[in-house]
Amino acid sequence: MKWLGLRRLLERPDPQEPGPRVFRAEAFGGIVQLAKPRALVFVDRDRARFLGYDGDRRWNGAETALGERPLSAPLEAHLQLTNRCGASCSGCYTAATPQGAAGEWGPGDWKRAIDALAEMGVFHLALGGGESAALPWLGEIAAHARSRGMIPNLTTSGLDGIGELLDIVHLFGQVNVSIDGVGPIYATVRGFDGFARADEAIRLLREKKREIGLNTVVTRHNFDHLADIFRYARWRRLSEIELLRFKPSGRGVGSYPELACTSEQHLALWPTLKRLLRRNPYRVRLDCSFTPMIACHDVDAGQMAQLAVYGCTGGDFLVAARATGTLTACSFAAPPLGKPRVDQIAEYWTQEDAFGPFREWRRAREPCTSCTYHPLCRGGCRVVSSHVLGDPALPDPECPRVVAHAKRVTLPLLR
Ligand code: SF4
Ligand code: SF4
Repeated sequence: MKWLGLRRLLERPDPQEPGPRVFRAEAFGGIVQLAKPRALVFVDRDRARFLGYDGDRRWNGAETALGERPLSAPLEAHLQLTNRCGASCSGCYTAATPQGAAGEWGPGDWKRAIDALAEMGVFHLALGGGESAALPWLGEIAAHARSRGMIPNLTTSGLDGIGELLDIVHLFGQVNVSIDGVGPIYATVRGFDGFARADEAIRLLREKKREIGLNTVVTRHNFDHLADIFRYARWRRLSEIELLRFKPSGRGVGSYPELACTSEQHLALWPTLKRLLRRNPYRVRLDCSFTPMIACHDVDAGQMAQLAVYGCTGGDFLVAARATGTLTACSFAAPPLGKPRVDQIAEYWTQEDAFGPFREWRRAREPCTSCTYHPLCRGGCRVVSSHVLGDPALPDPECPRVVAHAKRVTLPLLR
């Protein structure tokens, strides 16, 4: 992006108006937040100065490269506001139940946590559950996040609390509804037929707001039906599709052998998406754990960096908190030693051993050590390594390069 273009994009109609944070200084330069297109852009110090920003104490030392050390704070925090949910999806990543977890936090606790995250300079909150749309205080939390300069986004199943959500939907940046398949395919992934209800929720939400999208967990049962998801999103005029890899956490541990994509599907993901996008140009986001499935196709690493296609950045670019306030590196990861709370994040963030294996990605093993994409991918999904190999520090066993390395064969690249 040309610098002048970036400066124009950053201009606010009324700079006195309160709004989301637009800049955060980092040792490498800083991060600027664009409203249109919605993006966080990493800039070096020269570019930050050109845009009129000052790094203050963060620029006192020498300029470092992005990734050389953790960011000064996460870019986003995923807050699981409750573990209550009546849907009982067979692969629920957090094993949510109608009763929820013992010791769940209330609105006062979450506001305190949001204050702590705001003090650190976090840009976005991803609010989820359980089913957070059913919480009577969800609007209070979203409004509090806004008042602290953060953009709250929401993920909902669309199965509960939609009437109340319609009244507060304007408070969110983006609302995504979980749809893992269109029509009967929904039930093959979730274990019950909730498509019609989720579809109705999407219809109602879309009448009120443009930024409504889909969250789709890609499994071996819906992989061949992704074209239907793209067609559905276009038909409902949705703003984005976020595709997530199935993770072995919560009830997903038990259903992992049945639902996780096959090696062939992992290898075919990128060519499949390119084909679908040629037919149906769309804003598609891939979750961090899919990065090895892109990198294995020799995609230009510079372009990936420009588009911020990073892999396992838990405990660095992102953090999460359980319904009880326990801080984790990401929504799927086990709590770190000592079980810090999310409102203690500032103190924990700078500890030498914070987030254990997540921050130790530079101590890679082969084939990650010699992989061009390692600075971006960081060794793949720690949650999958932990579940499949019993050690989160090992390379992601489902990365096609790792699979090929294990078999000692040359990876057949699909282009
Ligand atoms: S372990 Fe890493 S790659 Fe896997 S979901 Fe968490 S942050 Fe993403
Ligand atoms: S070999 Fe390692 S670093 Fe390279 S893409 Fe695979 S998991 Fe990522």
